[in-house]
Amino acid sequence: MMKITSIHAHILSSPLETPFAFSQGWVSTRSATLIEVTTDTGLTGWGEAFCQGLETPQIAATAIESCFAPMLIGRNPLSTEKHWFDMYNRSRDFGRKGAVMAAISGIDIALWDIAGQAYKQPVWQLLGGAHRRQVEPYATGFYRIKGQGEAERLAEEAQMHAQNGFRYMKVKLGFGVRDDICVMKAIQKAIDPAKITLMVDSNHAYGRSEALYLGQALADMHLRWYEEPVAPEDYEGYADLRRRLPMAIAGGENEHSLYGFNALFEGACVDIAQPDIGSCGGFTAARHITALAQAKGVEINPHVWGSAVAQAASLHLIAALPNTHHSLFARQPILEYDQSSHPFRRELTRHPIQMQDGFVHINDAPGLGIEIRKDTLAHYRIN
Ligand code: MG
Repeated sequence: MMKITSIHAHILSSPLETPFAFSQGWVSTRSATLIEVTTDTGLTGWGEAFCQGLETPQIAATAIESCFAPMLIGRNPLSTEKHWFDMYNRSRDFGRKGAVMAAISGIDIALWDIAGQAYKQPVWQLLGGAHRRQVEPYATGFYRIKGQGEAERLAEEAQMHAQNGFRYMKVKLGFGVRDDICVMKAIQKAIDPAKITLMVDSNHAYGRSEALYLGQALADMHLRWYEEPVAPEDYEGYADLRRRLPMAIAGGENEHSLYGFNALFEGACVDIAQPDIGSCGGFTAARHITALAQAKGVEINPHVWGSAVAQAASLHLIAALPNTHHSLFARQPILEYDQSSHPFRRELTRHPIQMQDGFVHINDAPGLGIEIRKDTLAHYRIN
């Protein structure tokens, strides 16, 4: 039997030359918590605990090294489902959400990477096979440099993404409803609406009345979705907006595990659920969540804002997602492709994701199919 011999959390961090804002605050540093799991057979797996824009990466790293690593060392890494429930049950009284779930996610991803290498199959194959081998990326951007009054600059940014080949773009809102509406009008004027589809994301900046007002003002923009209109705890607010607005309501990057998503689905909160592989509980939880969503008729479109490891993991998940509403020309999930400044994302693996003819191709190498660059790790590592 193969055995886990070590679990290490590598904390990478780099200050940004130009801090940028989303609705919850200023991001001045990009960080990542990468998990390296080694085994007695020589196989090594990598995972990532998603580090939110305002999160310090040390929280998840501490949960991994002080709580979960001592539990798992000596165990068979292939028992992914058993280890998931053991970690969840162990941390139920102090975890369930946030950084502790990100810690579980990072370890789970690394265990699936090991399993793929052990069985000589890509993770998407272990998940049951690929529904698709390529995915169209969407540009996440439109962060603020001043805060408000940047509509013109953001309209130019939209033109840049269009020139770079993006047909889908997600605009960061939540900087005051009037400012948000100015931004959206300027962007809509700058692009060809027949070619470009927009989404909006307020990162739960508003309460129900402002969120509704904003949604109504954007009602004729043919948005693919309206993301995190209200706080993640406000299930009733989500359901209410979903009844009153024409566009799809999306959320879930701040929801976790089958239990959290079950509450979101029971509340009829979202049309599109957005689990992040690095914080929802990894591949194991993503499988549970996907089954729940399928039963409720909810689309899954994963969120991903992490580094190259999280991007790779997210691609395997996307490959294995069934179409929720089957048809000949069913709407396919799209890959979040963050365009904000990230000093080490592209240098972290040997073959970072690439857009070719408008698509990102999903590899078929064993495991996650990534090779970590140790020089990049050493350069940005702070622990
Ligand atoms: Mg978001």
